[in-house]
Amino acid sequence: MSAEHELEVLNPATEEVVATVPAADAADVDRAVARAAVAQRSWAAAAPADRARLLRRFADVVDTHIEELAQLEVREAGHLLGNARWEAGNARDLLLYAAGGAERLLGKQIPVPGGWNVTFQEPLGVVGVIAPWNFPMPIAAWGSFPALAAGNAVVLKPAETTPLTALRLAELALEAGLPEGLFQVLPGYGHIAGRALVDHPDVAKIVFTGSTRTGREVMERCARLVKPVTLELGGKSPNIVFADADLKRAIDPFSFLDNSGQDCCARTRILVQESVYDEVRDLLADALSTVVVGDPADEKTQMGPLISRQQLDRVRSFVPDDAPALRGSAPDGPGFWFAPTVLTGERHDSAAACEEIFGPVAVLLPFTDEQDAIRLANDTPYGLAGSLWTRDLGRALRVSQAVRAGNLSVNSHSAVRYWTPFGGLKQSGVGRELGPDALAAFTETKNVFISTEGPAQ
Ligand code: NAD
Repeated sequence: MSAEHELEVLNPATEEVVATVPAADAADVDRAVARAAVAQRSWAAAAPADRARLLRRFADVVDTHIEELAQLEVREAGHLLGNARWEAGNARDLLLYAAGGAERLLGKQIPVPGGWNVTFQEPLGVVGVIAPWNFPMPIAAWGSFPALAAGNAVVLKPAETTPLTALRLAELALEAGLPEGLFQVLPGYGHIAGRALVDHPDVAKIVFTGSTRTGREVMERCARLVKPVTLELGGKSPNIVFADADLKRAIDPFSFLDNSGQDCCARTRILVQESVYDEVRDLLADALSTVVVGDPADEKTQMGPLISRQQLDRVRSFVPDDAPALRGSAPDGPGFWFAPTVLTGERHDSAAACEEIFGPVAVLLPFTDEQDAIRLANDTPYGLAGSLWTRDLGRALRVSQAVRAGNLSVNSHSAVRYWTPFGGLKQSGVGRELGPDALAAFTETKNVFISTEGPAQ
């Protein structure tokens, strides 16, 4: 087989081959979309309560496979076992939450003269979901499960490096009784299978999560077919620490080290009021020195490897050996390891301070006052997430209104919750996932006017 016809999945902690899976081409995408279109028609016609029941059954089956899915994620993505269990649980919980949405997909009755006016939330048809490698299960779930609940079929293309848990979820869907063809997973290369899905005339919407560069291309190609998109893209999120904050909590290194920093919401720009800069730097140095980096399957480990050699090379390119920095440690030998790092000598307009590194690297930058903090926080094309730390309530409110990001945490580095909306401003994305309105992104509103006029006298 040629390299374009298969994907080799490596364990990033050992570089051993975990599996080889066939890579879909454009003809496979065609066949999958045709099967999905057939399955979608009966699914949309089914009673909402029946759709909900099947999705709840799917959640139950996922629940009995949490450990298996988690172990698979440790092997294919190098995730910590505890995190991977949470991720599989997140997929289960979102199924249950979305199932309830199927029963509450309400229209409106709008008063009009001469009749009744009602609206219907109709499914789109076949939805294409394209996922990245950093959180393979949750991101596959966020794009796919609300779409299914709203009456759509889904064709999901996972990332090249991490197709295994998505493939297993599709098997579990069939085991739970979801109709054949309704939720299909097609591993493949972005420029082949991903592009074919984006360009397919019978795919009604694309949900893309990945880099801003690829997201821009996806949006351009969708524009040719006037196809709607949800885009969840990159980030360079600020962690704004005012002098009056609880500094120890504010500089929690896992705000940028979780998932080895391969997190679109990672707080990688630590903006610190200059009067506490030295104190924060010392606290961070202590915190980094105790981070346990190593085997992700060991429950004592706090940070695992990066996903691939390519990602490791990218991260290294931002951190010259002689760069002024606080550094933790990382294992030698096989595996894609990089030590937790905070760069301390960057200007706010340097590459490391502006570009998404997507590794365990943050920059520490001083600010003078509230206005300066807001200016620096917003001086980026991204607008995904951010944290701000202060005991001054008025300032917390002012700054959270002024910072242009879709997801902010005050006195917290809170993670994404499936029942609150998630998405980015500016070049971090278009549209929202999750939360109470998640299903709306997978429906069109149809307006129907019914005349109540009697026969002509
Ligand atoms: P990527 O853009 O390289 O790939 C993402 C997906 O798109 C993969 O499945 C890939 O195969 C596919 N793809 C690549 N080229 C394509 C094309 N031409 N047409 C269609 N599909 C194509 O991103 P990545 O490196 O896998 O993921 C890392 C990026 O994802 C980071 O920038 C990160 O910030 C972002 N991300 C964003 C969110 C969010 O919710 N905002 C969440 C996770 C990751």
